Amino acid sequence: MKRGKKIVVVAHCYLNQNARVRPYASMPGAFKELIVPLVNEDFGIIQLPCPETTGCGLNRWEAVTEQYDNPGFRRHCRSILQPYVDQLSEHVKVGDKIYAVLGVPFSPCCGVNRNPSSKAWGGPLLDRAVEPIAIVDGPAVFMQEMMKMCGDAGITLPFTDISEDKTAFPDIQPEIILKKILEAAK
Ligand code: SF4
Repeated sequence: MKRGKKIVVVAHCYLNQNARVRPYASMPGAFKELIVPLVNEDFGIIQLPCPETTGCGLNRWEAVTEQYDNPGFRRHCRSILQPYVDQLSEHVKVGDKIYAVLGVPFSPCCGVNRNPSSKAWGGPLLDRAVEPIAIVDGPAVFMQEMMKMCGDAGITLPFTDISEDKTAFPDIQPEIILKKILEAAK
């Protein structure tokens, strides 16, 4: 069978919501609205590793970008990303087309265009009022590292977020992002 040479890269939790920090799984398993059309259109799908689960486990607390923005966690991100950047470089080298790298808006690790920020989060939890967070522009920690590593490897990939939430982010609803991918792949 011939290779289709069409690839989409997705954040880990778009295929496995069980990796989400509690209680933020928005569905039981995969993001079907995104994944099923890609499978039906014969895209290969590369699932990135989950930096939070592999670095902090499944009982982790919710965090903001500032908490993951530290040298040790960035080193962890780079170490789990390296095999993926190596593989993506190979795909590019043989002429396979990467149509999107799909990140998660609101995530302190996997956001591409927006990430949650607070300088006040951290410290003891008991009797503590939760400080407000802001959603700020720019990539979160894991995606920052991936972008840098892809740059170092000499590959340029189309990073974008996609929203599972029907009421937030009208510009990155699945039908809009899928339409762009499918049109680019024609
Ligand atoms: S760290 Fe990334 S892959 Fe893991 S659950 Fe959060 S958004 Fe998903």
